[in-house]
Amino acid sequence: MASGLVRVAVLGGGHAGLAVARELIDRGRGRVEVAMVSRDTAMLWHGLMPQVISNLIQPQDALVSLRRVLPGATIYPYEIRGIDVDARRVVLVRGAEREDLVLDADYLVFALGSATDLSSHPGLAEHGLQALTFGDAFHLRNHVLDMLELAEIEDDPVERSRMLTFVVAGGGFGGVEISAEINGLIRDTLRFYPKLRAADIKVILLSGSSRILRAIDRRLAERATRRLTGWGVDVRLRVSVQSATATAAVLSDGTEILTRTLVVTTGLATHPLLASTGLSLQDGRVACDEHCRVRERTGLYAAGDNAWIPDPKTDEPLPPTATAAKATGQLVARNILAELDSRPLEPIKPVKFHAAALNRTYGLVQTGRVRFDGHLAAFVWRWQSLRAIPSWYRRTTLLLDWILSSAFPRDVTQLRIARTNAVLPMRFGAGEVVVRQGDPGTRFYVITAGEAEVLQRGRDGTERVVTTLGPGRYFGEIALLRGARRTATVRALTDLNLVSLDRKDFGTLVRVLPHLLDTAERTPVHAPAHVPTPASLPAVRPSPAGPRTEVRKLEPDELDQLNQRK
Ligand SMILES: Cc1cc2nc3c(=O)[nH]c(=O)nc-3n(C[C@H](O)[C@H](O)[C@H](O)COP(=O)(O)OP(=O)(O)OC[C@H]3O[C@@H](n4cnc5c(N)ncnc54)[C@H](O)[C@@H]3O)c2cc1C
Repeated sequence: MASGLVRVAVLGGGHAGLAVARELIDRGRGRVEVAMVSRDTAMLWHGLMPQVISNLIQPQDALVSLRRVLPGATIYPYEIRGIDVDARRVVLVRGAEREDLVLDADYLVFALGSATDLSSHPGLAEHGLQALTFGDAFHLRNHVLDMLELAEIEDDPVERSRMLTFVVAGGGFGGVEISAEINGLIRDTLRFYPKLRAADIKVILLSGSSRILRAIDRRLAERATRRLTGWGVDVRLRVSVQSATATAAVLSDGTEILTRTLVVTTGLATHPLLASTGLSLQDGRVACDEHCRVRERTGLYAAGDNAWIPDPKTDEPLPPTATAAKATGQLVARNILAELDSRPLEPIKPVKFHAAALNRTYGLVQTGRVRFDGHLAAFVWRWQSLRAIPSWYRRTTLLLDWILSSAFPRDVTQLRIARTNAVLPMRFGAGEVVVRQGDPGTRFYVITAGEAEVLQRGRDGTERVVTTLGPGRYFGEIALLRGARRTATVRALTDLNLVSLDRKDFGTLVRVLPHLLDTAERTPVHAPAHVPTPASLPAVRPSPAGPRTEVRKLEPDELDQLNQRK
């Protein structure tokens, strides 16, 4: 390198990446230049996310600013487009209208975490709520509170029960902690919702295996299962989610659960960037030796969830946990420095410490042969988290949060941060109603696959089928444009895939495509597809039999009218 320093590019700023970078900064000063590439400039403390969801802590207290804790490192806050492992070169996306940035390094460290792939289960990508990013946690917290608010005033008992049923798929740390925290949040806040009773609430945890928490001792996990059951969580083992719609989850044993909340912590998949490198993978992770070196390569290391590193005691891979990520990250840094000094490399030691917190007062700790649960374990988990978080500022705010949340009732304030320009993919099962005649209109829909029927109820109360709609047809625009109620019911005839825009995004679309409004005003219930398909949407096939329409420009007052309605 021109500076005379050895450049280490750390790919990923999570638990593992942060451990690598901090250790290199501490021990390699004057010899090593650290380049951290992470699309997130704050490290997300995943173990605290369930407490963000349950409102025990302020959302930002699960984040640690990389800039604050990595003095001296160069941070590249970009998405990685590609990695050339032979040239040890990384290509970074710098966003719209800018050329990609190429970063060369002497060492590459893979610390990209894990990815999910829900595509093999119909409807999961559309209706499963994930818990991987900060945005996911934030959204989930608002969604749970939304369900309570809406259920409190819902008259239809079936819809009400659907709103009060919360399904969490996945028996790992994430799924278990999230189900426990959602359960705690709901039961603690019921007193604010006088019409809801504890017996109405269903929180269901699904584990595809014969137990939960496979990273820890079986007996400790069984104690956690009993505790969850005691709190009212319905723990179901050897069962997973097969498919989902907007209103239901179908399980592998054939059971259908009516729900508006399906949290998915399963579907771990190979990170797409790793798949494109040509490196040998084991169980979808980069195959490494006991020194965390990528097998059969030089200058490449890996740590954390994306690395398959053998546990020296069992030869099994180290589990995807925060403690393993930190231990492997620190070892990578020490071994890179050892390589530079021509010293022998250290092998990984068994990762003995595992901990989880299911709520304020119940935790699980396993360290070697010592295993315990309960109050003390929750305290140890908190102590460990505070110790591990590398920022005094964050430690202090987190500690204050914990003190406040134990002194006051749970905060039920919703923090609504509207997503802009959201195009939502949706899926409905045959027979499910998408929009109902008489309801206020809030969204616009385009069919991408399947068929739906449009029904209108006459004055005598009988419903008749007006038409059927297939791929490329759209509906829902009339209520949005006229600020009126739905003029018809649309029901799925087959499994139905849609993309949907909210009122604001639809307004923007109409403003840039004025003929859309004209089309909609002249066709009573539906219209043929005049909406161009953005590259990002699945290709749609326009129906040849659609009514002909005339195109005209919007008058300025019509545009104003529409903008006022948004
Ligand atoms: C809800 C939840 C609760 C958990 N609770 C616990 C617990 O109590 N105890 C425990 O031990 N473990 C727990 N875990 C597991 C633990 O959090 C993970 O094992 C740990 O985060 C792995 O660290 P990592 O550095 O490998 O990956 P991550 O922390 O996921 O970091 C990956 C990094 O890579 C970056 N990145 C990824 N792709 C790109 C790209 N294309 N371009 C640029 N940057 C990219 C990301 O921005 C991120 O900075 C939990 C996990 C979850 C989801």
